[in-house]
Amino acid sequence: MTTPSNFAPEDFIGDDALMIETAERFSREEVVPRAEAIDHQEPGLMPRLIREAGQLGLCGIDTADAYGGLGQSKNLAARMLEMLSLNGSFSVTYGITSGISQVGLSLFGTDAQKAQWLPKLAMGEQIGAYCLSEPNSGSDALSATTKAIPTNGGYSLTGTKMWISNAQWADVFLVMAKVDGEKFSAFLVPRNTEGLTVEREEYKMGLKGSSTARVTLNDAWIPAENLLHEEGKGHQVAFNALNIGRFKLASMSIGPARYAIEIAAEYAKNRKQFGQSLASFGMIQEKFARMAALFFGAESAIYRVGALIDDAFAETGGTVDGNRKAAEKYAIQCAMVKVFSTEAESEIVDEALQVYGGYGFTEEFPIARVYRDARVSRIYEGTNEINRLFIAGRLAKEGAMPTFERQIEQAAAADLAMYDFILESARLRSERFPSLAPLYEVLTEILAPKRILANSRIKGDGDIDFPEPDVEAIGAATLERGRPWTGL
Ligand SMILES: Cc1cc2nc3c(=O)[nH]c(=O)nc-3n(C[C@H](O)[C@H](O)[C@H](O)COP(=O)(O)OP(=O)(O)OC[C@H]3O[C@@H](n4cnc5c(N)ncnc54)[C@H](O)[C@@H]3O)c2cc1C
Repeated sequence: MTTPSNFAPEDFIGDDALMIETAERFSREEVVPRAEAIDHQEPGLMPRLIREAGQLGLCGIDTADAYGGLGQSKNLAARMLEMLSLNGSFSVTYGITSGISQVGLSLFGTDAQKAQWLPKLAMGEQIGAYCLSEPNSGSDALSATTKAIPTNGGYSLTGTKMWISNAQWADVFLVMAKVDGEKFSAFLVPRNTEGLTVEREEYKMGLKGSSTARVTLNDAWIPAENLLHEEGKGHQVAFNALNIGRFKLASMSIGPARYAIEIAAEYAKNRKQFGQSLASFGMIQEKFARMAALFFGAESAIYRVGALIDDAFAETGGTVDGNRKAAEKYAIQCAMVKVFSTEAESEIVDEALQVYGGYGFTEEFPIARVYRDARVSRIYEGTNEINRLFIAGRLAKEGAMPTFERQIEQAAAADLAMYDFILESARLRSERFPSLAPLYEVLTEILAPKRILANSRIKGDGDIDFPEPDVEAIGAATLERGRPWTGL
């Protein structure tokens, strides 16, 4: 029987499958072929793509239908996001406006705030941005210095926000600032606010088609009704949006991984050396076995967490406090899928590039872009180091593991818990769908040395049973499919 605890991607059927197909078609037909123009920031192209996605209902999938969204589950929204993430620059633009910009409003907004701001975002008519980071406060987000001074029936905001995705195109900025320099709070700041300036674009190594810029606020006045939630409770808005954001970033990171496996498989089948196609070499097959297994592990855990999150929301009755508790309930698992999926993405795109040989190192082939774009996944929505500390801290607080003094031990303990969760998700799925069992074996093999290392860091015992999967056959089967082992 399917329950949230053993939900697998194969359970997206019927209308859900049709919606996923719509997202995938848009991604493959409208976005992927324009990768070059997107990277060159062709004027008007990105906002147009967002508008077109909105016209298909794709910009507010899990936003309530009363506010212009489709009112679908977070899990379905995440699967659709994966399909819309085959191109990294589009993915981050879309992900911020359809996700983190709307989550805070949906969870904490008053009816009037939701009615004012959500419909245009959910329909892709407006673009949102999320402003937490500052030049001197990244990981240590609560040390932000942007101030909100109560004045004239509203607030006057002053400070600099750094790395703001969508800054160039955003119509509304969700800004974190401290009231009187003390009470961390969240504010909705329209683009045309006097005193708000979007600075020049950052010159980035990847995601060149996305917009990332500083936003400076200089006595930028907004009315009191633009305060989201309560003064001093902005951390609830920021961090609960981030919990869901991390879950969604996991989906955003396996989208490019899916694409990398597809294009590398195509290349390996066509490229000949020593009179044979690359696809026939054992070491190339092994790479595909590992790529498929990492993808499988991430995918199995992400959509299981998504089903659990939806289950938590179904129980709350939609009150602000209930929403906060639901977004919080699986915060540990959200961090786990963020860390595992972004690291799986890195390994997959790296090996995919290797399959291309020297051609992978040129801009003539799409894999170089995928490789560059993937690097930031381990940095934003909380770096993977910060997420590891968060996992360990939370597990210790819940009494699920000891409190370790040293960061190295905390990270190792977080890794053990994370790998267990990923393996459990993969095992549950492969038990339901036995043809996936070989991938579970490869995944167990990949994670075994990492678990031994983590165990030895915290001086536990390192006994692991090693399966002996037939990696050549599994890799060959992946090549045959030309895609990750998803669906059956
Ligand atoms: C392309 C891009 C888009 C972004 N978009 C947004 C956005 O839309 N909105 C937004 O608010 N922010 C955004 N960010 C910012 C992003 O969230 C931050 O870069 C991230 O949180 C890390 O902060 P930092 O860059 O200041 O690094 P730092 O916090 O300075 O960290 C540097 C290194 O030190 C490590 N480190 C820090 N503290 C600790 C510790 N206690 N223990 C161990 N290691 C530690 C980190 O893991 C990292 O490896 C974006 C960043 C990029 C690159």
